[in-house]
Amino acid sequence: MKRVAIIGAGPAGIEAAAVLANRNMEVLLFEKSLNTLSNLLDKAYLFPDFSLASDRVDKLNKKLLHPNIKLCCDTEIVDIKKDGDEWKVIDSKNTSYLTSAVLLTTGYSVFDAKRKEELGYGIYNGVITSVDLEKMIKYNQIENAMGEPPKRIVFLQCVGSRDEKSGNNYCSKICCVTAVKQAIEVKKLMPDTDVYIFYMDLRMWGQSFEEMYRESQEKYDVSYVRGRISEAASTFDKKIQIKAEDTLVGLPMKMTTDLLVLMVGMEASCGTKALADVLQIKGEYGFAQSLNCHLQDNETTQQGLFIAGSCKRPMGINETLADARSASVIIMDYLNACQENNDNRNQE
Ligand SMILES: Cc1cc2nc3c(=O)[nH]c(=O)nc-3n(C[C@H](O)[C@H](O)[C@H](O)COP(=O)(O)OP(=O)(O)OC[C@H]3O[C@@H](n4cnc5c(N)ncnc54)[C@H](O)[C@@H]3O)c2cc1C
Ligand code: SF4
Repeated sequence: MKRVAIIGAGPAGIEAAAVLANRNMEVLLFEKSLNTLSNLLDKAYLFPDFSLASDRVDKLNKKLLHPNIKLCCDTEIVDIKKDGDEWKVIDSKNTSYLTSAVLLTTGYSVFDAKRKEELGYGIYNGVITSVDLEKMIKYNQIENAMGEPPKRIVFLQCVGSRDEKSGNNYCSKICCVTAVKQAIEVKKLMPDTDVYIFYMDLRMWGQSFEEMYRESQEKYDVSYVRGRISEAASTFDKKIQIKAEDTLVGLPMKMTTDLLVLMVGMEASCGTKALADVLQIKGEYGFAQSLNCHLQDNETTQQGLFIAGSCKRPMGINETLADARSASVIIMDYLNACQENNDNRNQE
């Protein structure tokens, strides 16, 4: 039985593990956190269908019950090397594992909003990130700095994305629709709260996103303002005052809000950056680089080393799962070709 190492038990790693295990491969799935799906655990509902995140977590985790999958949590992979025809995968305790192929699914982390000091994250309690709001929604505890239900919430798009100063010129792709999702969730829980979304331009690229955006305005009365917030400061009563420019009318404006939500972009995770570096497949912005974005998007410059999911670029769960399934097929083809080569060599 061929053995494949998968690094990272997020949606991509789990989906690929299940596909490979069902096709009679032995899978070693490594996860550095204590639990799988660390990036989904604090999410409430998922776009585009508002399904319960906990339901998706349970369903994905069930796939790991396959006898061909060995899950190693609390195991951070720190090095991966070619060892003859095989790969040697090494964890932080210096234990090594030999496998025939490696799939990197080390995913993303979010932009550190403290880097945008002018927006006050980590300084004022009323400034939070989309990750913080996700938890507040999940536990139905949406509160301002005084511990009270907010009367007004302002979202700011593109924090740490499409931003030369942060060094991230790319679009994070999922934060526009995440803001729409979270705005709708807030209005469902607190219909009397005013919700404003400040944007540069809204990117509703996926199936049902445009409909969600329309519904947020028509059914939930969410207001959209085309403009940039340049600064946030606290008022004496612990509200947040923002300075912005409405770029449609070309006028500066000020507004106070109980909560300012920074829609932080997706970056390559530390694991992605470190492993892409040692494997010499580090692409732009620290994401893992595929061989060819059209025809070989799961392959890398290293034979037998594959990549899938948001370690390559920002993507939502749908796209991540499809990408993991595609990587699994490519890995099976690769292992079959290796087997044929071996058989031919033995016959000669
Ligand atoms: C605020 C917010 C809300 C979102 N809401 C939605 C939504 O509603 N719907 C949707 O479709 N998407 C949503 N997303 C996006 C979603 O989280 C991602 O699409 C998905 O998690 C990507 O899965 P992945 O497997 O590629 O990476 P990840 O989920 O990042 O998983 C990677 C895993 O690899 C592990 N790892 C990293 N390095 C190592 C290492 N060296 N050794 C071992 N393990 C390692 C990590 O601990 C992690 O568990 C949201 C994202 C954010 C930020
Ligand atoms: S998805 Fe929207 S909020 Fe996120 S970076 Fe792109 S344009 Fe900005």
